[in-house]
Amino acid sequence: MSELFTEGAPIEDTRAPAGPIEERWDKRRFGGKLVNPANRRKLSVIVVGTGLAGGSAAATLGELGYQVKSFCYQDSPRRAHSIAAQGGINAAKNYRNDGDSIQRLFYDTVKGGDYRSRESNVYRLAQVSVEIIDQCVAQGVPFARDYGGLLDTRSFGGVQVSRTFYARGQTGQQLLLGAYQALERQIAAGTVEMFSRHEMLELIVVDGVARGIVARDMVTGEIETHLADAVVLASGGYGNVFFLSTNAKGCNVTATWRAHRKGALFANPCYTQIHPTCIPQSGEHQSKLTLMSESLRNDGRVWVPVTKGDTRRPADIPEDERDYYLERIYPSFGNLVPRDIASRAAKNVCDEGRGVGPGGLGVYLDFADAIARLGRDAVAAKYGNLFEMYERITGEDPFEVPMRIYPAVHYTMGGLWVDYDLQSTIPGLFVVGEANFSDHGANRLGASALMQGLADGYFVLPNTISDYLAKGPFEKIGEDHEAVVEARAAVEGRIEKLLSIDGDRTPDSFHRELGAVMWEYCGMERTDAGLRKALDRIRELREEFWTRVKVPGENEELNQNLEKAGRIADFFELAELMCIDALHREESCGGHFRAESQTPDGEALRDDERFAYVAAWEYTGHAPVLHKENLEYEYVKMTQRSYK
Ligand SMILES: Cc1cc2nc3c(=O)[nH]c(=O)nc-3n(C[C@H](O)[C@H](O)[C@H](O)COP(=O)(O)OP(=O)(O)OC[C@H]3O[C@@H](n4cnc5c(N)ncnc54)[C@H](O)[C@@H]3O)c2cc1C
Repeated sequence: MSELFTEGAPIEDTRAPAGPIEERWDKRRFGGKLVNPANRRKLSVIVVGTGLAGGSAAATLGELGYQVKSFCYQDSPRRAHSIAAQGGINAAKNYRNDGDSIQRLFYDTVKGGDYRSRESNVYRLAQVSVEIIDQCVAQGVPFARDYGGLLDTRSFGGVQVSRTFYARGQTGQQLLLGAYQALERQIAAGTVEMFSRHEMLELIVVDGVARGIVARDMVTGEIETHLADAVVLASGGYGNVFFLSTNAKGCNVTATWRAHRKGALFANPCYTQIHPTCIPQSGEHQSKLTLMSESLRNDGRVWVPVTKGDTRRPADIPEDERDYYLERIYPSFGNLVPRDIASRAAKNVCDEGRGVGPGGLGVYLDFADAIARLGRDAVAAKYGNLFEMYERITGEDPFEVPMRIYPAVHYTMGGLWVDYDLQSTIPGLFVVGEANFSDHGANRLGASALMQGLADGYFVLPNTISDYLAKGPFEKIGEDHEAVVEARAAVEGRIEKLLSIDGDRTPDSFHRELGAVMWEYCGMERTDAGLRKALDRIRELREEFWTRVKVPGENEELNQNLEKAGRIADFFELAELMCIDALHREESCGGHFRAESQTPDGEALRDDERFAYVAAWEYTGHAPVLHKENLEYEYVKMTQRSYK
């Protein structure tokens, strides 16, 4: 594999304090330098992204008194992709008295991530989770309540307690409205300046330190430079490299990839989450997949016919001819096994020829028992909007027939490498939310992304960034600084290049083909031979892209083809790194399933001797350099994960 990458010096997180794990976050906050309120006004921070991570970070930094510039590519900050989150947000409140605790959330998350995340980060996440709920309730987020008025909770995969707070199937939307109103308050107060419909296309690095961004006004095409004392990326995940995913169509990797090219290491790019409960693809021309929230597995039962090729209607298949395979294989967790496990199990039964629906690529998620037990109204109260969404898309009523579901790309655990302070390997560049790699290891548990995004934005970053900003005042940088001029010229050059190719293929056609290659070879199951094939094809396709792409129109106008082409160019480079990462990790862990490394009963088989590390990749323009961050487990014993 030496032709694909080289190995460099190991990397270490030097920011997490030593000592008892429950004291580390307190210790770090006490050890960090503070900026006095009068000096905060003189310091500026750019925040790219207004989802739960970026929106909460910008609002909190504004409230603290820093001068904040906030960027998003949507027409309003509250249209960030976080709005799509359905099922809920975890917190170790133990309102149910069912044995939950910070320790248990910590344990579940480390185990759920298949022992590929950092203990210090995950423990802090579990501690902070409790504060998030209080913060959001104070903002007026309308979490579901039980009959007595207490906040209600439900269960999500990979856990046996009920710790997921929710607002019907619209949790992300309600949480984002909370963060958005906090952000708007700061915009009105003048601490935050908002730049919507602006896309960051380059990071400005001066003498090795992040000092600003180059952004394109997506309405006029104007290329702008914005300078600051620190930059925060909260630009979300890169699941759309697969073209078809549950992510919003606009989600892309450009912000983090541009930072990667400027020196920020990219960690664990191959860790992708495939969500087990999505509406199956209906045809070749589809451009988006729809999630059916994991919360549905609280009451829905997953099954397929016992017999191969059984095409009877579900109602005509008697109980003893149904295989409730999750309940059968994993009796302790049943339908609530984690996503990686449930997705692979669905793939296995479909590979055996027992899948249902068109092409046999589907399994049933059946609510008949829940409706009989709880009544139709109770089921509607919990999942009404999800049922309606399903019916609108498929034309089938889940109250009458079971839903058909199939796994789809949903979330990316990889992202820019950050230390305990959420600072990347470029000083002054911080990364929060799905854009970083920090807390979920090789598999994220359901309802933990919202928790992490808000933990990062409301509680972690505002504390850790002050230690960096306390080094100010920083040298003033002018727009005529060589590094700024260079970054701007690079953006302009790239746009000109994309517009001038004038080929015969649309950006979308390349994206669709890239996505198909990634799904086939770097999706639910990966092999050495398949990944090598993918690498060859990606390289060919990338070359073809730069000679055949057609981007009609001009820069000086709203030009969605130009936006797409720039994003796809970055997806090509990312896709290559994902395949190299997947190829070098000759073990299975969490969402990364290497067919060569499985237990006799088909579960992911880790190789802790060789791979208990974070793979942090350095960009070189040719073969990337691998830096390993060793993972040590003091508090949770590494074992073969079992949900049986
Ligand atoms: C359908 C669906 C349902 C989900 N449900 C849940 C759930 O119930 N519970 C849970 O915990 N998680 C859930 N998730 C995952 C969760 O929603 C995301 O991980 C999380 O919202 C990501 O938040 P974020 O703030 O990191 O990024 P995002 O919300 O993706 O925001 C990214 C922001 O960055 C901006 N941006 C990106 N690139 C640029 C650029 N180059 N220039 C300028 N701006 C840029 C965008 O405009 C946007 O404002 C779900 C995900 C999906 C797809």
